[in-house]
Amino acid sequence: MDDLRIGFGEDAHRLAEGRPLVLGGVPIPEAPRGAVAHSDGDALLHAVTDALLSAWALGDIGAHFPDTDPAHAGADSAALLRAALDTALAAAGGLRPQQVSAVVTLDRPKLGPHRAAISASLAALLDLPLDRVGITFKTSEGLAPDHLQARAVVLWG
Ligand SMILES: [Zn+2]
Repeated sequence: MDDLRIGFGEDAHRLAEGRPLVLGGVPIPEAPRGAVAHSDGDALLHAVTDALLSAWALGDIGAHFPDTDPAHAGADSAALLRAALDTALAAAGGLRPQQVSAVVTLDRPKLGPHRAAISASLAALLDLPLDRVGITFKTSEGLAPDHLQARAVVLWG
């Protein structure tokens, strides 16, 4: 059955001072700490990118964009997502992403004020209407205060 596909992705980064925080392609300027990463550390976009690839059994972000490759140092995760989307679309036989559902876990800052901007950014990257982009913000309840985590599911149809 090739008229429906689903992909799941997950990503996590450690938080450190002196790093910018970017989520879903949106800078979070009031964040006290940002993600430690070879790229810009955008865990939400990395989870969505893995979900796009996973739906078509195309491996993962690390296989397509190795973090040992200096060409990807400080990489714009939105550009990586679009490249992965193009790769997946080439395998998709005319199917397209129909919906994305994601969870971001971060203790500070509260991300609610950025929901509209993050949703709009993700919708634009995936060419989806806003009502097909669901993002949930969670805290770790203090269990992982030094940790940024994102999970995402993308449905293709
Ligand atoms: Zn990542």
